[in-house]
Amino acid sequence: MYDALFRAQLDELKNGGNYRHFAELERHRGQFPAATHHGAQREVTIWCSNDYLGMGQHPAVLQAMHGALDTCGAGAGGTRNISGTTHEHVLLEAELADLHGKQAALLFTSGYVSNWASLGTLGARIPGLVILSDALNHASMIEGIRHSKAERIVWTHNDLADLERHLAALPLDRPKLIAFESVYSMDGDIAPIAEICDLAERYNAMTYLDEVHAVGLYGPRGGGIAEREGLMHRIDVIQGTLGKAYGVTGGYIAASATLCDFIRSFASGFIFTTALPPAVAAGARAAVAHLKGSQLERAAQRRAVASVREALDRIGVPHLPNPSHIIPVVVGCPQKCRYISDRLLAEHGIYIQPINHPTVPRGTERLRITPSPVHSAEDIRRLVLALEALWAECQLARRPLAAQ
Ligand code: PMP
Repeated sequence: MYDALFRAQLDELKNGGNYRHFAELERHRGQFPAATHHGAQREVTIWCSNDYLGMGQHPAVLQAMHGALDTCGAGAGGTRNISGTTHEHVLLEAELADLHGKQAALLFTSGYVSNWASLGTLGARIPGLVILSDALNHASMIEGIRHSKAERIVWTHNDLADLERHLAALPLDRPKLIAFESVYSMDGDIAPIAEICDLAERYNAMTYLDEVHAVGLYGPRGGGIAEREGLMHRIDVIQGTLGKAYGVTGGYIAASATLCDFIRSFASGFIFTTALPPAVAAGARAAVAHLKGSQLERAAQRRAVASVREALDRIGVPHLPNPSHIIPVVVGCPQKCRYISDRLLAEHGIYIQPINHPTVPRGTERLRITPSPVHSAEDIRRLVLALEALWAECQLARRPLAAQ
């Protein structure tokens, strides 16, 4: 009986073209972006990973994880409150607080959980709070806000006039929180953080900034866009992940000591779950520490991103212009997007997952390309040649040569 119900809804997904097929990848130590793709039964180059800087294979990270595994063992052994707070968790929180210039930081099991638990708790516990949420905020923020049952106002993506219109309509003394991201993951555009802080100050609102796609990548120490723009002190809560540029897993917020204590004390998504394994915390700390000091990975990534963009311009394959490391190549048709992805994989050994509705709006289906410092010039050459051939085969529009 229940199986039929499950199947009906799965069929609906399949019929709408929204069913997700996972690529089974066998990663090999030190070989990223190369991996073995089990479905295609071949070696592939991964072009769609969020291990943006290849830190998931960095020797300093692996060594720290091996070391902590050997000294601490596998698991944390409990929730943070009941025996699960190890020395490694405390050190990592201190490292993250320092990264963002905040008094404190708080670790969660993922970036998703950190958004869900923090926004959920702030929304539920600050009497009368209104949360003003950017229209393109990540699902983890949306779910956290919904769960909190606080009043929510969705403002037009990155639109300061719309945000101000909503703020101005609220009583000045009513508690408010503006929740937004720095780098948006699917379009790669960046929020006007300084102007949002100006509005927050004018209208007496707190600010909550998701820097998941920016930490490790931007700013002189990898503190994100807010660090790069000298704005960290104007943001009340900076949220990040340890699973993307830092190459491991886990999430966090960095904020005042009182705010972190508040979330630590009331957020069920923090309290009632086993702490991250100490080896994970040790690996993440090594990645954060390394990227605080080294500019090499960030510089090499920027060069790789520029090379891919230039090569795409040369062959006229359009990509969304944005000031970040994310290159969205919009195909604009779910079938063609899937077809190009399949052919890249089967014939060229290039793995780029198609991004279709509902992750992006219909008609903007895309290949989201994320060049890293470990993609070689030869990897880039092969990617561009393959895309050029498939673009022609699918008769997709090229950017006019005059516009290049
Ligand atoms: N925020 C944003 C903007 C994200 O894109 C993601 C994950 N894709 C998350 C939060 C969740 O982070 P994590 O993967 O560490 O759970």
